[in-house]
Amino acid sequence: MEYYPWWTEEQKKFADEINIFVKEAFTEDIKTRWTRQFPWEMFKKAGERGYTGVGIPKEYGGLGLGATGACIAAEAFGRMPGPGRVFVGNMLGGLRQIIEFGTEEQKKRFLPRIAKGELGAIVITEPFAGTDAAGIETKAKKDGDVYILNGKKRYIVSAGLAVRHMVYARTSNDPEDIRNYRHLTAFIVEKGTPGLSVEKINEVIGFKNIQNGVLNFDNVVVPIENRIGQEGDGWRVMTAGLNFERTLISALVSGWIGELLRNTVPYTQRRVQFGRPTIDIPTNQLKIADLIIKFKIARLMAYYTAYLWDLGVDITIESNAAKVFNCESAMELSIDAIQVVGGDAVTPFYPFEEIMNVAKVENIAGGTMEACRLVIFRAALRQMAEEFKMQRRVIDPVLGVPIPVSDKMEKKDEINEEELLAVLAEDYRVNPGLFMSRSDIKEFFHVDDVTLDELLISLENKGLVKLYRSKKGIELAKATYEGLNKAHPLEYYRWFPSWVDESRKF
Ligand SMILES: Cc1cc2nc3c(=O)[nH]c(=O)nc-3n(C[C@H](O)[C@H](O)[C@H](O)COP(=O)(O)OP(=O)(O)OC[C@H]3O[C@@H](n4cnc5c(N)ncnc54)[C@H](O)[C@@H]3O)c2cc1C
Repeated sequence: MEYYPWWTEEQKKFADEINIFVKEAFTEDIKTRWTRQFPWEMFKKAGERGYTGVGIPKEYGGLGLGATGACIAAEAFGRMPGPGRVFVGNMLGGLRQIIEFGTEEQKKRFLPRIAKGELGAIVITEPFAGTDAAGIETKAKKDGDVYILNGKKRYIVSAGLAVRHMVYARTSNDPEDIRNYRHLTAFIVEKGTPGLSVEKINEVIGFKNIQNGVLNFDNVVVPIENRIGQEGDGWRVMTAGLNFERTLISALVSGWIGELLRNTVPYTQRRVQFGRPTIDIPTNQLKIADLIIKFKIARLMAYYTAYLWDLGVDITIESNAAKVFNCESAMELSIDAIQVVGGDAVTPFYPFEEIMNVAKVENIAGGTMEACRLVIFRAALRQMAEEFKMQRRVIDPVLGVPIPVSDKMEKKDEINEEELLAVLAEDYRVNPGLFMSRSDIKEFFHVDDVTLDELLISLENKGLVKLYRSKKGIELAKATYEGLNKAHPLEYYRWFPSWVDESRKF
């Protein structure tokens, strides 16, 4: 595994150690893919060595190697898609929720158990609530010092194997709570709690040696001490874990891409067709080059995001971007690798078909590509607002055409309808197809929102301005044809390039 220059010596040593561990554990993983058994022995060993606690602070029994350490482990486990998914999704993916929202007592109770390898499950999805996770229907009704849970959860990795379940349930149907995302609550439900049962085990593509299933909660009594965060905090608890989990998934997936490379190159060096190894065929070389390029980018995305997390930076955009890029790349690259290798790649005797399958699954599990893109879109519009500001444009006095300018404008203290209309008309000259936003207008005047609204509505009533209103109120404004004519004579708006024949300017 290639180190990054910002890794600590401890993280580099851990990388060496975990890669040796995975190399040795790999055989058990392959055998259990055939027997469809969960590789308990390997997980036990990983727990004994504290690997499952790589991201847990040392005071709670972990190795304290941060998100970077957790990604190193995730990438190494990428050679083994099933255990890797459990490692990332269930062990590390459930951590942040407890670290950020758990009480001191809960951290002391649960984190050392995760560090020692106790298997957990993340329990969000339901038959009627997938991407729309806020729509979950499982109910938790408070009764004195306990909550009583009823409902069904599906697609749960480690169903039937997990000892600890991080479950999200609805504690309010009040429309106000729902609007404010205060209607859900998170609980830890332990295996063996009466009423918690596995309804069925699913058959899903890929991930041959782990279990995925449907859980049923029939009057499951959960003590209040197992509630993570306050009642109504469930949505915040759930989302706290997602950016961290998506970073880990992106590291896991770069491990899959590495595994494609590790198999494609030696295979094609040994496969001879038309008297030469297939690696000498130029089209195969181009596909292998793409594998290398995207392997490098995928790792960078995962580890740079982890580094930012360890520095305490908000990684909402980076973690979701890494998940989208790495998971989509893994899907495309597995298909390319299969093409380069040929028939052997679609047998289960090589890892290609399993990686193709799990890559497709990972375009859905842990947040679909669309859900991640929507998170990126919303976060970026907020966080990058400064970069998305429209640069002011003016008509250049010499050229007579609109050009962007960076000089600061003197704002006017006074505003009236006439001046406001003149600004909107001027904007027509520089951005003829665009409305002006409120903040664009406020670059010209010191004006409060109420006064601006009054002036705009008055101009609208006179037919001189057209407004765009959203739920928040008036957002955009432009001068109408009548407004433009009122502000200036046609001559003011006219412009012709120098090469236009005089006789054509009718
Ligand atoms: C193998 C596997 C393991 C999983 N493990 C777990 C687990 O351990 N715990 C757990 O709780 N869940 C788990 N899941 C569930 C997973 O998180 C959901 O499958 C996922 O969130 C998508 O939900 P859905 O499958 O119901 O698809 P739907 O929500 O029905 O979506 C179908 C399609 O519509 C798109 N879509 C939906 N809404 C929008 C929108 N607003 N805008 C744009 N596109 C949209 C989706 O992106 C998707 O492409 C797992 C799923 C799989 C397949």
